[in-house]
Amino acid sequence: MNNFSNEDFCKSLPKIELHAHLNGSLSETTLIQLGSTNSDIAEYQKLKHVPPHERTLNDCFKIFQFAHKVTTSPNSVYAATKNVIDEFFLDNVIYLELRTTPRSEDGMDAETYIESVVEAIKDNEKDILVKLILSINRQHSLEVCRQHLDIILKMKKKYPDIIKGIDLSGNPHHGRFSNLQKLFQEARDHGLFTTIHCAEIVNNDEVKDILHFEPDRIGHAPFVHPRYGGCAENWTTLQKNKVPTEFCLTSNIISGTTNLYENHHIREWINNKLPFSINTDDKGIFHTNLSQEFEYALKYLALSPLELWQISLDSVDHTFATSEEKSLLRFKLEQWKKGTFEQRYKENLDL
Ligand SMILES: [Zn+2]
Repeated sequence: MNNFSNEDFCKSLPKIELHAHLNGSLSETTLIQLGSTNSDIAEYQKLKHVPPHERTLNDCFKIFQFAHKVTTSPNSVYAATKNVIDEFFLDNVIYLELRTTPRSEDGMDAETYIESVVEAIKDNEKDILVKLILSINRQHSLEVCRQHLDIILKMKKKYPDIIKGIDLSGNPHHGRFSNLQKLFQEARDHGLFTTIHCAEIVNNDEVKDILHFEPDRIGHAPFVHPRYGGCAENWTTLQKNKVPTEFCLTSNIISGTTNLYENHHIREWINNKLPFSINTDDKGIFHTNLSQEFEYALKYLALSPLELWQISLDSVDHTFATSEEKSLLRFKLEQWKKGTFEQRYKENLDL
């Protein structure tokens, strides 16, 4: 008898999170702890009860601003990071790559901000491996992006075991990857892995530049496949270079790039056996967690539990971890399959 509900299965499965923005991941508990106002918390709670497809991006941005407001000192940034790590751990995430853009506030410069995040990662004692990706925001001027890259490279030199990658994020209507490509090449030359938010709007010229750069990963990619507004040339490039894609299902529903979970463009990656991972993007803003995202994949994409386990295992290949760390993560997943999974599915192993 199968005595493992989908919910139990997704919760219990050891998971790999590769696309999580720090500020967007703050929970209600953290917002309260860090002193959010009662009216901000009420707004947050109100949104929690609205189904994902009925939430608007504007509502969600409000939450992002609440998170921003309460993380303007080194102590609050440290506490917020620590809480986010603990929450992913409680969701049985065994490997987490957090990402954030260098920020300066009154009394906290960008380096201090990054140091506060790094300290929280260093102090983590839970059984979850955590790495940091630092983001360049495409809305910023080239000059600011340049300054941020200098800070990122300096910090990477100081914390090479924690700071592993660089990301391009921000409003896709602003800036162009081609103007920033040199900075990303420089980051790569300094040993940073690269991941780029890609095709969040239809922009085949930019997607072409990104895919030809061959980043280590791309994020979202809703408008790459020709059926979703992309073009055949870019899709062929992706099929050849097989850059792994980070998918965030609920995030895409709320931002309106996908109308239904069952219509999500991840289907094209599944059908074409292209590499991908499933992630949360902003678990606080979108009121989700990684187990929930896996449950949506089970429910709406007709994937089996075993296939979800395989997605977790394959995601290890896409991490920015060392080969020793990857071996350990694979070992944990194999052990879980042999233990918990096979015992709970005793008579149903062909699921
Ligand atoms: Zn993102």
